[in-house]
Amino acid sequence: MIPLNDFSRRWSELGPEVLAAVEQVGASGHYVLGPAVASFERGLAEACRVRTAVGVGNGLDALEICLRAAGCKAGDRVLTTPLSAFATTLAILRSGAIPCFSDVDENGLLDLDVAEGILRADDRIRFLLPVHLYGRSLDLRRLRGLVDVTKVTAIEDCAQAIGASSGADRVGTVGAASALSFYPTKNLGCLGDGGAVLTNDPALAVTARSLRDYGQSSKYVHDQIGLNSRLDELQAQILYRAFLPRLEAWTRRRRSIAEVYCGRIENPALGLPVGPVQDSVWHLFPMRVRRGQRQDLERFLAGRGVMTAIHYPILIPDQKACGDRCETKSGLSRARELAAQELSIPIHPYMLDAEVAQVVDACNAWRPT
Ligand SMILES: *Cc1c(COP(=O)(O)O)cnc(C)c1O
Repeated sequence: MIPLNDFSRRWSELGPEVLAAVEQVGASGHYVLGPAVASFERGLAEACRVRTAVGVGNGLDALEICLRAAGCKAGDRVLTTPLSAFATTLAILRSGAIPCFSDVDENGLLDLDVAEGILRADDRIRFLLPVHLYGRSLDLRRLRGLVDVTKVTAIEDCAQAIGASSGADRVGTVGAASALSFYPTKNLGCLGDGGAVLTNDPALAVTARSLRDYGQSSKYVHDQIGLNSRLDELQAQILYRAFLPRLEAWTRRRRSIAEVYCGRIENPALGLPVGPVQDSVWHLFPMRVRRGQRQDLERFLAGRGVMTAIHYPILIPDQKACGDRCETKSGLSRARELAAQELSIPIHPYMLDAEVAQVVDACNAWRPT
C-alpha cells in the first residue's frame, strides 16, 4: 500500500542525524527552554519570514496562545471555518471565547467575501481565525484588505501550510499572530508533539512566551493564567538540525507531485484542486467525487494499493463537543458538500515516481457505478 505518509523512509535517510541531535541535547544538560529551542526559534522565524517564533507544546496550544496573546477573552466572538481539524475551534473554546462559523469557498477555505459581510454586519465579532487548509494559502491581499476595513484581529492557522504563499506574501505574516504544528504528519513534523507561535509584534511575542510558561513574567512572578506548553529541547534540536534544513526540498517535491496529479489525472468523475500549483505547499491533495460515490472510490483505490483519507467527514459545528457553545453565521452548504465529497490521495516527499504514477493510473481507471 502507498501510505499517506512514510516515516520509515524518512528515518532511513535521517535517523543518524536525529540520533546526533538527541546526543547533543543529552550531553548539554539543558532539557527545557534551552539553547536548542532558542536556535530553532531563530531558524524558524527566518524560514517563515517573521520577526519572532515562540516554540510551544503543540498546534492546539499555539492557537490558544495566539488568541489570548492577541487579547481574545472569555465571551469574545471569533469567526472561523467549519471545515478544519477540530483543534482550530477547540482553541477558541479553550480560550473561553465563542466560535462563530461561516461558509468556505470552492477550495474549502474560509470564504472571505462571506466573512467580510458578517463582520460588517455584527461588530461583536472582533476576531477572525481562518485556516490555510490542505497547504493552500488564503488570498492574503484580500485578507489584509478585510482586516484593514473591519479592524478585526486575525490569527492565521498555518498548521497545514508552513511556507505557503499567495503572491508575494507568506502565510503567517498578515495576522497579528499565527500558529504552526509539528505533529508528525505535518509538512514539518517532529517525532512527537510540537508547535510554534509566529508574530511580527514584539509585545505579543513577550506575552506568548509568558503564556507557554505558567504565565510567568519573570521567575516566580505570575501575571496571568498560563499553560505548561514548552517545546521540548529534544524536538527543537531534531527539527533544527535534521528536518528544518530539508523543508524547502520537501516542499518542492510535494509541488512536483501535485503538478503530475493536476496534469495527468484525467477522470471527469474526479474534481481536482483549482488555482496555481505554486501557492500551496500541498500538505494534502484533496479530490472531490459526487456525493455517495466516495466509499466506492476509496475501496477501488485501496484495491490498487493506494491509501486515502477524508478531510473532514464531519463539520465542526456538528460535533457533540460544540454543544450550544457555537454560533453559525451563514449557510454552510459548500462546507457540507465538501464534507460529503472530499477524498485525499497520498502526497508526501518520500513518494517514488513509480508510486506517483501508480496513483495517477488508479485514479484514471476508476469508473463511478
Ligand atoms: C494539526 C492541526 C492543528 C493542531 O495541531 P496539533 O499539534 O495536533 O495540536 C490545528 N489546526 C490545523 C488546521 C491542523 O491541521
